[in-house]
Amino acid sequence: MSSAARVPIIRRVCEKSSKRRVIILGSTGSVGRNALDVVAAMLDDWQVVGLAAGTRARDLAEQANRFRPQALAIARRDQASRLDAALTYSPRVFSGPDALTQMISEVSCDCVVAAVVGTEGLQAVVRAVELGRRVALANKEALVAAGSVLVPLAERSGAALIPVDSEHSAIFQALHAGRRGDVLRVYLTASGGPFRTWSAEAMEDITVEDALQHPTWSMGPKITIDSATMMNKALEIVEARWLFNLREDQIRVVVHPESIIHSLVEFCDGSFIAQLGAPDMRTPIQYALTYPARRPGPSQRLDLFELRQLTFHPPDPERFPALRLGHQVAARGGTAGAVLNAANEAAVQLFREGTIRFQDITRLTEHAVQRHDFRAAPTLDDLLAADRWARQEVARCTTYKF
Ligand code: MG
Repeated sequence: MSSAARVPIIRRVCEKSSKRRVIILGSTGSVGRNALDVVAAMLDDWQVVGLAAGTRARDLAEQANRFRPQALAIARRDQASRLDAALTYSPRVFSGPDALTQMISEVSCDCVVAAVVGTEGLQAVVRAVELGRRVALANKEALVAAGSVLVPLAERSGAALIPVDSEHSAIFQALHAGRRGDVLRVYLTASGGPFRTWSAEAMEDITVEDALQHPTWSMGPKITIDSATMMNKALEIVEARWLFNLREDQIRVVVHPESIIHSLVEFCDGSFIAQLGAPDMRTPIQYALTYPARRPGPSQRLDLFELRQLTFHPPDPERFPALRLGHQVAARGGTAGAVLNAANEAAVQLFREGTIRFQDITRLTEHAVQRHDFRAAPTLDDLLAADRWARQEVARCTTYKF
């Protein structure tokens, strides 16, 4: 074979091996679909090597047929045959409750997008961190529940935890403007949700339909309800504590209904550094993948001349008691985050089923956090046990008066 004939083959091999490989956990959900949108615009140097979903076999197959990853994982074993039937090629398929963790263990990659809602994706995130992967963390619950385990683990393995949550991505970016020791505090912006201006009395009668209307962000149902109770911001206070190693009193929430400033860092010299952008999840997702580089992408652009005003208000902890709870849990650390997260998840489910009222979500969650058997330095098993206890406690409380 002449050397001229060999060149294209070598180039093809090099091109293939130089592509960044990504696994997306929770690819059929809102963040997962946005992540695929981002990767679709960067296929010159990115490739999808794994996709994972919980139950939506048909949607997963459709994504797989388009991106052709080498492996797929589906958590519900009874959906594996449906997935298989809808595939037009033959990837490796993992199924069952450990499918996501198995895929992370066996498929090599440069980055894992962790976008499984709730604690279900926790084991897979732990595995990715153990393996020292870059984890683009959209699953805030993993950090809220298990920050006391994940953060030290990442320090040992060298895994990078890059936030996808828009507020934390903003803080992550703003922190690059100064030294960590010179940070006075951070401000997490909150849209305030659909009930920002409702009275306390009116809030007692909020329906599921009311709570599923978010004014600025388009997201999945669980996080939309969390935004309505402002429990989402409580979870984000805890998330910020772990991600940025902040004291609870260095984290403040500011209501900013326009959702244009995604968060701010205040430095000791009086400078505030903010990150702005259109409310489009694809911007923080893409940054978590390409960091420290930036590149053009599919996100909506902000038109500064169309912005009339940016407003800021203090949050109301009386109508949104979840915020106080977030500060308490961030201050305590240990098992408190696992209980906060699990109790809230269980309570949101009960609200969606019509079993409890809107304000009971926070009441039940607070009750579980206060009642639980706190441990300051838990193992992963302790956290999983605290998670189980919290869910049982919420279920128990809905049958008795709490
Ligand atoms: Mg957020």
